[in-house]
Formats: sequence, structure tokens, C-alpha cells
Amino acid sequence: MPELPEVETIKRGLAKTIIGKKIAGFDSDWKKMINRPLPEYKKIVAGQEIKAVERRAKMLIIDLTGDWRLWFHLKLTGQLVFSGKKKKVVGGHPIKEGFEKDPNRFTHATFTFTDGSHLYFNDVRKFGWVRLYRSGELKEKLEAMKLGPEPLAAGFTLSVFKERLKKKPNNKIKVFLMDPQNIVGLGNIYSDEVCFFARVRPDRPVKSLKENEIKLLFQGIKKILTEAIKYEGTSFSDYVNALGEAGAYTKKLKVYQRFGQKCFRCGGTVKRMKLGGRTSHFCPSCQK
Ligand SMILES: [Zn+2]
Repeated sequence: MPELPEVETIKRGLAKTIIGKKIAGFDSDWKKMINRPLPEYKKIVAGQEIKAVERRAKMLIIDLTGDWRLWFHLKLTGQLVFSGKKKKVVGGHPIKEGFEKDPNRFTHATFTFTDGSHLYFNDVRKFGWVRLYRSGELKEKLEAMKLGPEPLAAGFTLSVFKERLKKKPNNKIKVFLMDPQNIVGLGNIYSDEVCFFARVRPDRPVKSLKENEIKLLFQGIKKILTEAIKYEGTSFSDYVNALGEAGAYTKKLKVYQRFGQKCFRCGGTVKRMKLGGRTSHFCPSCQK
């Protein structure tokens, strides 16, 4: 699933590309992807202009004129492809056909703009969605999710992090980091990387963390997410030539999916374990 850096990368790519474009039409062949009957959905979006592209947690929000908002979640295998005459922006799950052919057999929703360009929502497993709400309704929906703070916002300080940790003393640290009600945006990849950075085993209970470890975890969150955005995440980004390549941060990963390989820091062997239903990677020699 795309995590914060990947969704932020798509957001930036789309913001540079689609703001100001006017929607000419919409179509979808998958009822569960949208939250209104198709004819109604089509009628509402037709003629609307894109005002802004935003991100909250791992979700994208597109502001339309007339107080409407499109709310996207890519879930496990969703991919967004903007396709214009000269430019292509691809983000989300690496679906090869998304680069080579659009629309393709994984395309389940399509926005067509008045200049002939398109925004395609491709999804292999079809868990993703693009819902349409009035801005007030969307605000309520987001509030009901009780999301934690955005980790890169200025308001997310060490003391906020400590307060959050205090509420979940028995959580394993990786499980804590991945729960969006504690902090948003960290999934399996970046929670492993943050634990590695802080030299903390991912299965340590929160209450066992020492002051300096908490500080390192906090610094790790800010540093790793910022860097991953700079390198456009570990999935995909903005490609003029529409060639699929992994986001450059893939090469920067220190521990994630390095099972059995040598630890870059201490030379130990990277191990893995199941935690909260996910596979966690860590180095038992230098993560205590
Ligand atoms: Zn190590």
C-alpha cells in the first residue's frame, strides 16, 4: 500500500498538472469504487474545475468548484495515471500496464478533461475508491476517522509524540507507528525504517522505551519521511516518458525487505517477524 511519501509524491505531481482543468466527463465500471449512482456522479462532476489537490494521511482530496470534493483512497493496489498529450503522471501501486497502455483492463474510473487529457484510476484488486462529497460532509467523515497528527506538520512535536505514546503503553512500537489514530502515514515500509534508525526492535512495548529512544524515533519519523518524499517514495512518480521505474527511495531502504542480508550498520543479519499481521524487518544485533 502506498504510504505517506508515495501519496505526497502523487499529490505534488497532480497538483502541478491538473489544477485549473475542467472535467468534461466521468465513467466507472465498478460500483463499489464510487459512493453515488453513476448517473448522479456524472452529473455532479461534469463542468467542475479542479481547484486544489490535497493529502490527508494516505488519502488524496481534490477540491472542485461548487463546494464538491473528490476523495481518493488507493488502498492496496490502486494507481492514478494522468495522461495528457505531452505529459504523464503515474503514482501509487506499480501496475506496469498503467505506464504502457491507458485505459487498460485495470482501469475502473476515468475522468476526462475538456482539453482531452484523462485521469485514470487503475486498481488490480479493486479495493480503492473515489468518493464524491460536499466539503462539509467530507470534513465530518474525516473527523469520524479520528486520525492522528500529520508527522511532517510543524504541530507534530516531540511532546505531541510523547503524549501519543503515553496513551498506548502496551502497544508494540511498530504496531503503534502503523496505527493512523496515533500518527498518520506510516505503513509497513517506513515503520521498519524508523525502528532501524532508532536502533529499537519493532516488537518492544511502548512503555519500555527510554527517553533517548523516543527522541530517536521522533527524529527518524521526520527524517525518513522527508527524505523519502525528496526521492519520490519507494513506488512511482512523475514520468514524462511513461516508463515505469521504482521511486528512488527504494535504493535508500536500510532494512525493509532485506531479510537474510547483511545489516548496513553493524554487519549482522537482518531478520523478520510477524507483528500486527505484517512482516517486520529488523537487525537483532543493533536494534535492541
Ligand atoms: Zn545491525
